[in-house]
Amino acid sequence: MARQRIVFERDRRRFLKQATIGAGLVAGGLLLPGTLVASGRNGNGQARIVVIGAGMAGLAAARELEAAGHRVDIVEARDRPGGRVHTLRDPFSDGLHAEAGAVALSSSYTVANRYIDELGLERADWAMPELKPLFHLRGERIVLDPSNPPEWPFELTEEERKLGPQGVVERYILEHLPEGISDETRWRDDPMLALDQMTLAEFMRENGASAGAVALVGATQWFGAFIDSGSMLASAMSSFGLFGAGAPFLIAGGNDRLPRALAEHMQGKIHYGHEAMAIEQDESGARVHARHGDDAVTFECDHIVCTAPAPVVRGFDFSPALPRAQRTAIEGIDYADTVRTYFEVDRGFWYDEGVAGTAMTDLPIEEVAVQPYSRAGSADTSAVLESHVRGGGSQPLIDRGDGLVDYVLGQIEKVHPQVRDHAGEGFHLHWGGDPHALGAYSVPAPGQISRYLPALGQAHGRVHFAGEHTSILSATIEGALRSGVRAAAEVNQAMSRQHARASW
Ligand SMILES: Cc1cc2nc3c(=O)[nH]c(=O)nc-3n(C[C@H](O)[C@H](O)[C@H](O)COP(=O)(O)OP(=O)(O)OC[C@H]3O[C@@H](n4cnc5c(N)ncnc54)[C@H](O)[C@@H]3O)c2cc1C
Repeated sequence: MARQRIVFERDRRRFLKQATIGAGLVAGGLLLPGTLVASGRNGNGQARIVVIGAGMAGLAAARELEAAGHRVDIVEARDRPGGRVHTLRDPFSDGLHAEAGAVALSSSYTVANRYIDELGLERADWAMPELKPLFHLRGERIVLDPSNPPEWPFELTEEERKLGPQGVVERYILEHLPEGISDETRWRDDPMLALDQMTLAEFMRENGASAGAVALVGATQWFGAFIDSGSMLASAMSSFGLFGAGAPFLIAGGNDRLPRALAEHMQGKIHYGHEAMAIEQDESGARVHARHGDDAVTFECDHIVCTAPAPVVRGFDFSPALPRAQRTAIEGIDYADTVRTYFEVDRGFWYDEGVAGTAMTDLPIEEVAVQPYSRAGSADTSAVLESHVRGGGSQPLIDRGDGLVDYVLGQIEKVHPQVRDHAGEGFHLHWGGDPHALGAYSVPAPGQISRYLPALGQAHGRVHFAGEHTSILSATIEGALRSGVRAAAEVNQAMSRQHARASW
């Protein structure tokens, strides 16, 4: 049954007004009966802020706003912090874990590294066991022997054949990236903005790559999944200018230790299991209407920082409505889907052959990876083997329904013929089917950064927007964190302006 609960201290005048608005939303079918009321403002003049989402952007915004002396509450739909930074432990044997969301951080992530140091978290290196790299391309299982490079099964020029995948990346991508790709403030500069009009494949072709070289990169590189669909500007800034500019690393014990440590500092102020559904504002303040089980709860505040992913925000009811350009941007920005399928294996059987457990393939399972990424493993120790499918390959897997896990195992068998002797029961995780993400991350198509990015991060009165999709460093932890820091600064500026007006 619906209950009524008061979240903040109650103020009778606001309560009555609130109850009326709540009744309107209930009548409109937006909220369940029993609207809950949150009201009141700090007596000390500091702002009361409600942050929607306890992912990296929301936690960063909350941390910065608390540090500035504001009273912050976070409304989070899940029962955990971290959003798309999520480490799986439960289904695995003791000590094993696997990342479900963000794979790695980079030494170039300035905000993430600052928080890691402030919170006293331990970093772990990305393990690079000395094993022969493994591929499955065009129907062939390829073991790379560095002293005797293979015949790559693509139509390559003589030069490209000699270069191999890494050399091709160097020759057609890295050598041609404009200066300034590591400076996020410069994305509107001319040479950079031109990159928003093309894909990575087009960029490579423009620099002389053959169709075979483009296909080789698409199949063998982690950034190759969106080679034909994503804006080259996003790849240039996020993949090469940011992530690739540093050394990859992990958080020891699991990447979710970072959001969990941030959340610990917000103890009691994160309202888990509260799903925001409507945002309204007027001259007196702003309100987030949320659903908590069968209850409806309203959080009242001075400013809102909304960090929910764009596909989720599409379903929010804004009053007053968002400007047209912002609605168009939220509706239009492209997201990629991801399906990851996990199997615990009793031992690192690939060591017997001296090949890597990890493999890049052009099979429907795309990448095979070994987790935890920080463990080199051995022939005798257990590990998690996963298939990581990014983008367009996700839906065909999902369409397999109950047969998905066995199908994936059958495909992994082409890469690792012994896998069935060692794998336990598998399971999959689909970010596009997660109601609080509705996709893995934003992957703007050519033209979408110029068209949508300014509007995605634009404040709408008392409502501020953050999240990886509002950052030029899209699809990264760092982009999400920096967007949270930016939104917090916006709130501080708005409060200073308000304060200045009041003191006149
Ligand atoms: C498979 C995968 C691999 C990745 N790999 C990397 C990588 O290697 N390196 C890297 O840097 N980044 C990587 N990323 C990207 C990185 O994880 C994200 O960019 C970042 O975590 C996004 O943070 P965010 O705060 O913007 O969004 P989120 O993490 O999605 O946070 C938003 C929060 O809002 C909550 N929410 C949603 N709807 C509501 C609602 N209605 N009411 C209340 N709360 C709501 C969500 O539950 C969530 O907690 C990867 C992501 C995925 C999915």
